[in-house]
Order: sequence, then structure tokens, then C-alpha cells
Amino acid sequence: MTRSYHPETLTAAAGVATDPAFRSAAPPLYLSATYGWRDPEEKPAFDYSRSGNPTRAELERALADLEGAARGVITATGMAAVDLTLALVNPGDLVVAPHDCYGGTFRLLTARARRGQIKVLFVNQTEPEEFAAALAQGPKLVLIETPSNPLLRITDIRACAAAARKAGAIVVADNTFLSPALQNPLALGCDIVVHSTTKFINGHSDVVGGAVLARDEALGDELAWWANCTGVTGAPFDSYLTLRGLRTLFPRIARQQENAGLVAAALAADQRVSRVYFPGLADHPGHDIARRQQKGFGSMLSVELTEDVDVLEALRGMRLFTVAESLGGFESLACVPATMTHAGMTPEARAAAGISDRLVRLSIGLEHPSDLIDDLFGAIDRAAIAVRREGRRRAAG
Ligand code: PLP
Repeated sequence: MTRSYHPETLTAAAGVATDPAFRSAAPPLYLSATYGWRDPEEKPAFDYSRSGNPTRAELERALADLEGAARGVITATGMAAVDLTLALVNPGDLVVAPHDCYGGTFRLLTARARRGQIKVLFVNQTEPEEFAAALAQGPKLVLIETPSNPLLRITDIRACAAAARKAGAIVVADNTFLSPALQNPLALGCDIVVHSTTKFINGHSDVVGGAVLARDEALGDELAWWANCTGVTGAPFDSYLTLRGLRTLFPRIARQQENAGLVAAALAADQRVSRVYFPGLADHPGHDIARRQQKGFGSMLSVELTEDVDVLEALRGMRLFTVAESLGGFESLACVPATMTHAGMTPEARAAAGISDRLVRLSIGLEHPSDLIDDLFGAIDRAAIAVRREGRRRAAG
């Protein structure tokens, strides 16, 4: 697909009628593990599905085009994508990552550091001085994650990438929270973008997958070499489903972020909500940077509930929101990061990142916004009644 099309067209047209046999509108699914050679000395375009697969190649091309990358690698999971970037560092090299990155990324980096495979430094990348001090230590790789998970902190990608590259680091951005529809980190100076395609890109909560997309061909080739070497490439059927989900990325995310804006505004106006973390709100500290570097505010938000509400009871009382990890799907989800998505962090690391036990993360889906808001307030009302009842019981007894 040529890059001159608008990104909306790239997603809708990815793989359409590319089938060499019948020009099927929906590209075929090639499940074959291996492929015949016409001649033992002529290696075919695809010889073995770990190294290359026609269905996976369609998804790779589509995501590379959307992110403006020279080359992409589709991995089995988002974590495999993050881990694949570590193939670019040598033993003992320093990796700088956000102090409030996804819990699984935190676990991976600390586990590899504990084994002595890398050194890792977690810093608040929204604090320029702290970030500059980390760069002064000469990292080989800098990982940016913005908006961050779960506090939606906004890192200035252009400024951080420029400083990190000047310090000689490879700059990787985890773009999972926005998808290529709303943010393109390569255009802002990063070398590599990673995605958990499990989230917005597939969008239907029926596949786990990842992608690594490199701005530079040689870096992309190196990543593809390691992906084949270590065997982390994604399955063809997963690529097929993800390509199918990708086609509706733009309309899905447009509706989801509109819903998220309405939910955030409703929650911000309630006294039982002490804080709403949503970059679309004008008082969010990263609002101006988000306006500049994003094409929308996304559909993720987190809220801190006051002591008047029993947080776990509030989650138990939700009828429409499903209490589950993950995000970016068509359905609305709620979770408590401290015990769910970020349980892989130590309590100290969570405290340092500002992730309290009263924090609830919401992934807003495609339902009608009024139903979502009613569901949240119904759950908060019931959880507040439960707190009052418990207070009265304690006072009486
Ligand atoms: N990066 C971010 C920002 C995530 O939120 C997640 C998962 O939630 C991952 C990476 C890991 O992706 P996966 O669950 O597909 O392995």
C-alpha cells in the first residue's frame, strides 16, 4: 500500500484484493507452517512461518505504513514486542524507562536487571531535570510510554526523544494507549514504536499480539532477525483477526474517545471522585502537550475515589463495565491497577509512581455514554451507601 493515502484509507484498504489467486477482497489466511521451494537453490519469498508468513506480512506492512516505519515485526504479545527491543542492548547496558510504565513492562525490566542482563533506571519522564540526570548516565535504550498506564501522564515525546538521541540512546515509544490513529511517535523523533495490538489495534478483545515498528530499515532488519531467532513472531490467525480489527480502528477510537470525554466530565463533577486523570480535561497537567502531539485524547481514564466510597464495592456494583484487565476493546472495562494490572510492581514502586489503592482505571468502549455514566454512578452510589452503613454499624457497636 502506498504511503500517500490518508491513514483512514490505509486501515480500511489494508490487504484488500491483494490475494494473488482470486483477488479476494478479504485477504486469505495462510496457516501453512512451511512453503514449497520451486528449486532447492531458490529461496521463496516465504519459506517457514516463524521467519515470514503472508498473512502476518499484510499486518506488518499496514502497521508500518500507519506509523511511518520502514519495517515492522509482528510478535505473539505486546510483552514480546517490548522484550524484542531489548535484543538491541548488550549485557550491562542501561535502559531508562518511565516510573509509571505498564506493570508488565516494569516486571520484565526489573527481572532482566536482577539477572544482570541489563541495568534499569525508572524515572519520571515528565520531569525534565530527572530525565536529564538519567540521560547523563549514558543509557543505550530509552523507553517512553505516553499517555502512561494508569495515570495518563503525558511525556513530551519530541523533547525527550531529541535529548535521548543526543545522548546516544535508541528511543522506543510504547504507543499502545493511543494507537497510530491518535499518535505517531516516529514522526516526533523516536526510533521504534511498540504496540500491544491486543488493545485498540485489534479492538475486539479476542487476540493477544504485539508489534515493533522501526523508522530505519537496518534497525527493522535487526529486530526481524532477532524475532525469527528467538521465535517470538505472531501466529497467522492472530494476524488475520488483528488485520480485520484494524479496519475499523478510526471509527472505533473516534466514538470511544467521545464517550471517554463525556464520562470524564461527569465524574469530575462528582464530589466522591477526588481526581480524574484524563488528558482531555483542561486542568490535566499534560493537557497542552497532549493537544500538541496527539490527534485526540484517547479513551482511557483513571479516577481516584474518596474515602466515602468503598472502591472494591464500587467495582462489584458495576453492571455494564466488566471488571477486567486489558483496554482498548469495544467493551468498557474497569480495574483496580494496584491489585490487577500493576500487581507486578512492588508497593514501594507503586507509591513512587503515584498509583494508590483507591485508583480505578476505566477503558471506555462503544456503548451509549448515558448508559456508561448511569452504570458508574449507580455503582458509586451503592458503594457509598455501603460505607455509610459500615460507619453506622461501627459507631453503634
Ligand atoms: N504495553 C502497554 C502500555 C500495555 O498496557 C500492555 C498490556 O496491558 C502491554 C504493553 C503488554 O501487552 P500484552 O498484554 O499484549 O502482552
